Formats: sequence, structure tokens, C-alpha cells
Amino acid sequence: MKAVVFGLQWGDEGKGKITTYLSREYDIVVRYSGGSNAGHTVEYGDVKIIHHLIPSLHLNSSVKGYIGPGVVIDVEVFMKELEELRSIDPVVDEKIRVSSLSHIVLPLHKEIDGKLEDMKGEARVGTTRRGIGPAYADKANRLGIRAGDFRNLERLIEKLELISRISEKLYGTTPMNSRELIQKYEVISRYVLDPIDMKRDIENSRVLFEGTQGVLLDLDVGTYPYVTSGHCNTTGVWVGIGFPVKLDKYIGVFKAYTTRVGEGPFPTEVMGSEAEELRNRGKEFGATTGRPRRCGWLDLPLLRYAVEVSGCTEMIMTKADVLNGISEVKVCVGYRYNGRILDVPPNLDVLDDVKPMYETLKGWKDLDDPNFHEFVEYVSKMVGVTMSHVSTGPRVDDIEIWSGDDD
Ligand code: GDP
Repeated sequence: MKAVVFGLQWGDEGKGKITTYLSREYDIVVRYSGGSNAGHTVEYGDVKIIHHLIPSLHLNSSVKGYIGPGVVIDVEVFMKELEELRSIDPVVDEKIRVSSLSHIVLPLHKEIDGKLEDMKGEARVGTTRRGIGPAYADKANRLGIRAGDFRNLERLIEKLELISRISEKLYGTTPMNSRELIQKYEVISRYVLDPIDMKRDIENSRVLFEGTQGVLLDLDVGTYPYVTSGHCNTTGVWVGIGFPVKLDKYIGVFKAYTTRVGEGPFPTEVMGSEAEELRNRGKEFGATTGRPRRCGWLDLPLLRYAVEVSGCTEMIMTKADVLNGISEVKVCVGYRYNGRILDVPPNLDVLDDVKPMYETLKGWKDLDDPNFHEFVEYVSKMVGVTMSHVSTGPRVDDIEIWSGDDD
């Protein structure tokens, strides 16, 4: 069995919690894209963990966590995160492996990220400034440093000096002290796994692939240029592990409303006290940066778009409990655009010019309320995909298998 868990919106849908919950039925959780810009929050009882790089595997279980070549690794964040996880699961180190082909985020990448954002001024993307985009750019420029390079330090010094020299000339970044960097980062070589070993393990195991961000932030099919630099759509699985794999399930996670961090179009965004209420109820502040998230109502045209481009076969709704007690819940059912009505946007450039059309549904007291049942069935029908689970709260086990006919 192989499946992928991914976000159907702009990220922060609760993928970390869902992945952790489902991971107990798998042997390995594999991260295939992004870097430490991700922040997957997982709550076990009173303990809260934020996974930036380490896959959201259920701690103290036998599930292993692999990081594929499509991920860019900030070694300091990786080691800090492992240390934190070790306090809960003392043998976690033995379960984590990093592809020798994964690229390393260097301090100069963070410098470039900040400089580019500042130079863009009003046109900035709103990145986390963690160097993710520049690390991917250097990968494409054939200048990148890979985790496997830390096994051959002499050649690594030459590579580091080359990238430092070019980056200093192009971007005015601080010259790198290669030996100092190696001393700090060399520890990554303990976790390195060669591509053929990773491939065989993946082929012979039950694997859950963990997406980061969301389809609408995918480099190609997202709201470009307001996207992340990785392939966070399900298509990223093949690119992000380096070989093709057959997936049995494409599990799309979405919130009962919508949020977005950073710049870019957001048709159902609400402002003022309405936004404040959603933000405070849902604790919508970024897990990586603490930035307040922009909030709005559920957008079905965008959900349909994300389902179409991802091949989603089942959905999981999260955070509906955040709306408990609201008397009416709005859902965007279509867009008015140039005298036409759109059920699905043909491309995301139209989002700047659409006018959302809303349907108002009855709110619910709690998740046992028949109105909530109606809401879930309505969304599932309007999108045309089965709901497999409904998340009922922040903790890993706050979740129910959804059976559509129990009302
Ligand atoms: P991710 O990046 O997609 O993993 O999302 P975040 O890290 O932003 O996590 C979403 C937050 O919402 C985490 O703190 C989760 O524990 C929490 N969460 C997930 N599902 C639910 C839910 O159904 N209800 C509530 N109230 N919180 C949830």
C-alpha cells in the first residue's frame, strides 16, 4: 500500500496531524518536497511538536521517516528537530534517513532569500526567508551541495568555494568559511542513504508520502508567482523521490474554511472583525514564522481545481470544530468572471478578477449536530470526492472515519 497525504489549499490544513494519525498503518513516511519552511504541528496529548523537516511519523512507533531528494535540508534545523524528538522517542535517530541526493540549504541561501524579497518591494512573495527558493535555484544552476557530498570532504571544499565565490559576485553574500561549515554540517552524513537503498526500501514497504504546503502553492499549478519553490502537488512524489511509484490513494486534506500566509490572490478572504474571529478561533498564526494568517470562507471552485490537478481520490476535512457555534457558515460555490459563471477556474490568473458567489448554510453547535453532517455531505457532493475522515480537534487521535449515512 502506498498513499500520499497533501494539502488541497494554501497549506496549514493540518497535514502533519493527519499524516501522524495515518502513519501507524505504514512502515515509512517519506517527505518529498519543501524544506524547513514547512511547519507541521502535531499534538500528542499536551505535547506539541512542529515538524519542519523530519517526516510526521508517529513517535514511539516502529514507523521510519525518509527524506527524499526533492527536499532541501537546513542541517541546523534538522539536528535541532531531532534533538527535540529524541526527548520523546529516544531511538528516533535510528529511524530517520536522508537521501544522499537531497540538497543542503546554506547560510548564503538565506541571505539571498532576504535580499530578493527586499529588492522585490511591493512585489515580494512573502517567503519564510529560510533560503528554500535559492537552494532550489542553485540545484538547478548545478551549484548545489548534496547530503552525500559530506562523505568526500576534499571535493566538498572545492564545491563550497565555488558556490561561495559565485554567490558573493552575484548577490554580495558573505564569503563562506568552508571548514567551519563542514564542522557544523558534517553530522548529516550519519543519516545518509543511497538512492538504490532508499528505492528498494520504498518499493518493499507500506509507504505514506507526506506533502508540504498545498496544491495552490505548487510551483507550477499554484498561484504563481505567489507560490513556494517546491513541487508540493502530488506530482512532486515522483520528482521528490527520484523514481516512479504507483500510489493507491491520493488523500487531500482541507480546512472547513480557508487560510493563506504571504501575498497573492485569495477570492474568499474576509477582513476586519470577521477575519479576526476566524483567526482567533482557529489559532491561525504561522507554525514557522508566527505570522497571522489571512482567513476566509471555504472556496469550492478552488477545491475542485486542486482535486482535478492532484488526482485526489479521498478527502479529509479538518478544523470544522473551529466553526462550532457560528449561526451561519458561508461557502463559495462559483465565481462570476467576465459575464460568465465558473465552477472551476481554468487557470489561477483569473483569481485577481473573479467575484465569489456564496451559499449560506446553517451553522452547527458541535460536530454531532445534523447541520454539520449536512455540511460535510454538501461539500463532498459539490466537489465530487468522498470524505474518508473528519478531524474533530487538534490532537492526533481527534478524528473520525466518516460514514456518510449515519444521520
Ligand atoms: P500543516 O502544516 O498542514 O500540518 O498544518 P499546521 O501545522 O498549520 O497545523 C494545523 C494546526 O491545527 C495544528 O496545530 C493542528 O493540531 C491543528 N488541527 C489539525 N486538525 C484540527 C482540527 O480538526 N481541529 C482543530 N481545532 N485543530 C486542528
